[in-house]
Amino acid sequence: MTFQTELQNEASSKLSVQRVSKRFGAGARTVHALDQVSLDVGEGEFVCLVGPSGCGKSTLLNIIAGLDSADDGRVFTDGAPVNAPGRDRMMMFQESALFPWLDVLDNVLFGLRLKPSLTTAERRRVAEFYLELVGLGKFHHAYIHELSGGMKQRVALARALAPNPRVLLMDEPFAALDALTREHLYGDLQRIWQERKKTIVFVTHNVREACCLGDRVVLFSPHPGRIQEQFKIDLPRPRDINSVDLARYSTKITAALKNYARSETGILKEVAE
Ligand code: ADP
Ligand code: MG
Repeated sequence: MTFQTELQNEASSKLSVQRVSKRFGAGARTVHALDQVSLDVGEGEFVCLVGPSGCGKSTLLNIIAGLDSADDGRVFTDGAPVNAPGRDRMMMFQESALFPWLDVLDNVLFGLRLKPSLTTAERRRVAEFYLELVGLGKFHHAYIHELSGGMKQRVALARALAPNPRVLLMDEPFAALDALTREHLYGDLQRIWQERKKTIVFVTHNVREACCLGDRVVLFSPHPGRIQEQFKIDLPRPRDINSVDLARYSTKITAALKNYARSETGILKEVAE
């Protein structure tokens, strides 16, 4: 496969999570991280998972990535069962997990090491293409410690995109960044998603962020981790996180989130009394 066909054959995939359950611990200490969670994500769809800390968002992403396994239920990409990590599902974390001993270009090239179909020169051109796409065309030879938090996440995004995964999994990738840096990244991620037509599952506890990025927002509640409600975000792109239209969605979803948190407290109170 040449550099050109590699870039033209943009891969995207349908994802299906079917009745996935996951428990940690045993006996009275068992944590029901996920309970019968089912979710279908369409090809090229951008889905955001929101919910309070501990509701199983990261656990679900790890299972989709093949980094962890479900106790019950299954995950499929394009009809094929997911049993292990693979280049078709790349993951991006809150901490960029970049290699400090490599420069920016070599960090992105590292993600391409499992692409035997490309020559060394082609791999380099693919890496350069993605660094340009994330706005780091002039930073190929910078080292990771020389970069700001936002730039590190841009390198991590280029590294995740370069192998042309069918699904991009993002676990609170912007949570540690300041508000202004995040806003730049919201704009760039929307542009990149539209250009490259990726299927994205994006985890966040920030409702506005979810409304800004997602075609759909999936609301989780904890103990046990379950999907409570889903919201289609019908706003044109690119979206501005500060827009009034977006605020309407985030107000509605935040109210739903509080409602589930309240009913959970209610149950706990009942048990305690
Ligand atoms: P979220 O990402 O929504 O904050 P997680 O998926 O990290 O939630 O965790 C869901 C629940 O499972 C939490 O109660 C957490 O403490 C528990 N949990 C997650 N991973 C482990 C683990 N490896 N061992 C024990 N408990 C875990
Ligand atoms: Mg998490």
